[in-house]
Amino acid sequence: MKTIGLLGGMSWESSLEYYRFVNEAVKERLGGLHSAQCLMFSFDFAQIEALQMAGDWDMAAHLLAEAAQNLERGGAECIVLCTNTMHKLARSIEEAVNIPLLHISDPTGEAIRAAGIDTIGLLGTRFTMEHDFYKGRLVEKFGLNVLTPDDAGRTIVHDIIYQELVLGEVREESRLAYQGVMADLVSRGAQGIILGCTEIELLIKPEHSPVPTFDTTYLHAVAAVDWALQETEK
Ligand code: GLU
Repeated sequence: MKTIGLLGGMSWESSLEYYRFVNEAVKERLGGLHSAQCLMFSFDFAQIEALQMAGDWDMAAHLLAEAAQNLERGGAECIVLCTNTMHKLARSIEEAVNIPLLHISDPTGEAIRAAGIDTIGLLGTRFTMEHDFYKGRLVEKFGLNVLTPDDAGRTIVHDIIYQELVLGEVREESRLAYQGVMADLVSRGAQGIILGCTEIELLIKPEHSPVPTFDTTYLHAVAAVDWALQETEK
């Protein structure tokens, strides 16, 4: 089994989910007392959030690249960046290390394609919904038609992430607000919804959506385990 390097803390609420998912997936696949061989570097999210809000992506890239190098030095054989938003800086991390970065949108795009879906709704932070790094990859690599909420919807989705979910707060009224945004995306043609922020799965479960949901936290964690077990299971 290869060693997975988790770059977490963005936020720790979702890193906990990653840790659980990678361990559960290894246990399910190998049985017995098996668990995931992994390392985690976990950021202080207050520092990361301040850089995001200030638009200081250069400093954020520097910190992420340095943390990825530390994971590599510690024995990690791949990098799993436990956030959709910070994949905006994926290139900087890839350039800083000699081990692969397993990109979060790849298992997501594959799962959507496997479900026979070509028009997909995307929920995430404003950065993920509005900048091109995420949608662009889904369009170019997987030929998907990606819909995002209107401005009011994007504000609701973004604010609930930063004011509640990264603090581990899960509120029924916020779930209803997300359901309104998802219903709008479905009325515009979305055949499925990407939970494109690693904390959204804390709030939205498959039964809360009228169409299939694609949980990026789970899909990314399982893809990391697939990668780590490639040789073991041969
Ligand atoms: N975890 C979130 C994401 O998947 C948002 C927090 C962050 O900005 O990293 O995008």
